[in-house]
Amino acid sequence: MEINERQLNLVNQQVKRLIRSDNFYGKKLKEAGISEVKTADDFQKLPFSQKQDLRDAYPLGLMAVPEEEIVRIHSSSGTTGKPVIIPYTAKDVDDWSEMFKRCYEMAGVTNKDRVQITPGYGLWTAGIGFQSGVEKLGAMAVPMGPGNTDKQLQFMQDMKSTVLCATSSYALLLAEEIEKRGLADSVYLKKGIIGSERWGEKMRNRIKGELGIEIYDIYGLTEIYGPGIGISCKYEEGMHYWDDYIYLEVVDPKTGKNVQDGEWGEIVITTLVKEGAPLIRFRTHDLSRILPGECRCGSKFPRIDTIMGRSDDMVKIKGVNFFPKQIEEIMSEFDELSSEYQIRISHLDRRDTLRLYVEAVSGSVDFEEAGRKLAATVKARIGFTPIVKVVEKGLLPRSEKKSKRVIDERFED
Ligand code: ZN
Repeated sequence: MEINERQLNLVNQQVKRLIRSDNFYGKKLKEAGISEVKTADDFQKLPFSQKQDLRDAYPLGLMAVPEEEIVRIHSSSGTTGKPVIIPYTAKDVDDWSEMFKRCYEMAGVTNKDRVQITPGYGLWTAGIGFQSGVEKLGAMAVPMGPGNTDKQLQFMQDMKSTVLCATSSYALLLAEEIEKRGLADSVYLKKGIIGSERWGEKMRNRIKGELGIEIYDIYGLTEIYGPGIGISCKYEEGMHYWDDYIYLEVVDPKTGKNVQDGEWGEIVITTLVKEGAPLIRFRTHDLSRILPGECRCGSKFPRIDTIMGRSDDMVKIKGVNFFPKQIEEIMSEFDELSSEYQIRISHLDRRDTLRLYVEAVSGSVDFEEAGRKLAATVKARIGFTPIVKVVEKGLLPRSEKKSKRVIDERFED
């Protein structure tokens, strides 16, 4: 989706601000000799920003305004190395709650709803983001924070909460507890706003079914405000995102080149109006694609597909980007196949070849027939034909590491 005139103007204001602030990106711009972007082509020449740039700026090197204007910081958890600190101005905080309010509106939440918030508060962006959006909307926040399931369930009943904000795993846990304790009749939930984790269709349907609620996927990351920059609508065909606050591109993770709308790749985000810590072309490592065309809900906001994984997992074969999770999902639809598989990619006779070894379940399975069906489904859904070999249960090597399931012999020597 090409950047439009209005977005370009906003980018130029960001560029000026960054050069003036002389933060890491301002320096990058100066080094590249860029002081203005005039066209969509110019925009694509802007350097990327990476998580490592943000770590290097620890603690406050991202700040692009005088410190007096910063009213709050948030931080993303660093599993390795230094965390990232994101400074927010009052306007940033307000913009974020405005976006979050839109998310609730997209999900049909109104000022009559009572919203139980179970993500954590504090340094990270989840709890407070959910809450400020509720307040902006005029609904009632029930700010529980994480854990303490007994208390969660008590408040859920006594407060008659109608909306649950949670991670997918916690929503599932609550659903199971409600069932186990036979509380279904005293719970008033209608909608779930679920964020921050990757999750499959099976889990989604379980939460929906067990709680009897509508589910909305919320998208976001701490580096770009936090959750709330996009959300799915009732048609559940991807997530709308707020293109007046962010410009979103999808690039080939290997080459960094923009892919066509509809093609899978890595999400790259540019903040259009952020003051405290504007980011230009930030590589999220989240994999998705832009969904072309207008959504059936009539919203003019563009859409990305559900996040399918991290770019580190992506494999390219015969010009098609895919990731093992797509194959896993297809396999899960075949009752005769187990979840054990191995993918070997090689370069034979000047052609990329993908061989897929899959274990059958025990019992009588027609290996050849199952293999043919699987190959045809992969071709139809992903776009290339793998060589499928269905093998007996227990034949494939077991490994702790999931990555061992994909062996790319093209780059091994
Ligand atoms: Zn829609």
